[in-house]
Amino acid sequence: MPRCAPRFASLPSPFALAFAFTLAFVAGCASAPKLHEYKGAIHVHSRFSHDSEGTYEEILTAAKRVGLDFVIMTDHPPSGDPGLSLREGWRGLHEGVLFIQGAEHSDQVLALGIDEPLRATTRQGKIDEIHAQGGLAFIAHGEEVERWDFGRFDGMEIFNLHVALKLRQDNPAFWVRALSMAAEDPDALWDLFAEPQEVLLERWRLLNAERPVVGIGGNDAHQNTYGLDPYWRSLGFVNTWVRAPELTRDAVLDALREGRSWVTAGVGTRLRWDSLPTGGAMPTP
Ligand SMILES: [Zn+2]
Repeated sequence: MPRCAPRFASLPSPFALAFAFTLAFVAGCASAPKLHEYKGAIHVHSRFSHDSEGTYEEILTAAKRVGLDFVIMTDHPPSGDPGLSLREGWRGLHEGVLFIQGAEHSDQVLALGIDEPLRATTRQGKIDEIHAQGGLAFIAHGEEVERWDFGRFDGMEIFNLHVALKLRQDNPAFWVRALSMAAEDPDALWDLFAEPQEVLLERWRLLNAERPVVGIGGNDAHQNTYGLDPYWRSLGFVNTWVRAPELTRDAVLDALREGRSWVTAGVGTRLRWDSLPTGGAMPTP
């Protein structure tokens, strides 16, 4: 036997195997990448959407103000040229903020991390196209979805800023109070919207009884309401955080895919949900 041969080579075979396995396991642990926490906003609209005039420069300024690491853009596909926002929207790092492209479709499909516009007309077809592009298919505005028996989407919004408004749309007393608060104490006004949205949370728990469905926050940022919803407010009010080895599109998408993420909401981030209701990753069936 050569002098450099490991000592366990002379041990009985089962011990040698066990020792080798342990060494490999320890080596694997040692080389596991260190994960960092990144704060993001998902579901953001710009001037490429019919219902926003916001510019990328404004979004970047707001993102830096509230300390975001990443922004996932989800413009409505522009009519006449559904690929316009994906071609001209920002990607990659801009002054330290990572921009990732996506799209919001009117059938509540939220595509994250796509490069090409979707051509399919059904939810299932869109989900398949998103996955074929390496992206993630989430459901936005789940309160508008009646049947959930379509496709293997990756997750859903468990908090959406517009849902917070919609839940109060039939409450005139609230809006009278809100108008006075808007001038006197806008922080307190915004914080009124930081309530668990049971209509979404209940569905999310039900879905997770069957398979892992990752929860994300939906900023649904437009900056389109008479100065009441500047980007810095909507980007900072609800956030999706990820644990990832680096700040790149693929690393952020991987973290979301695997539920290495959590959601916070409210002024002072006083609400928090882990992205899987079990509080940890569930095995993929
Ligand atoms: Zn939207």
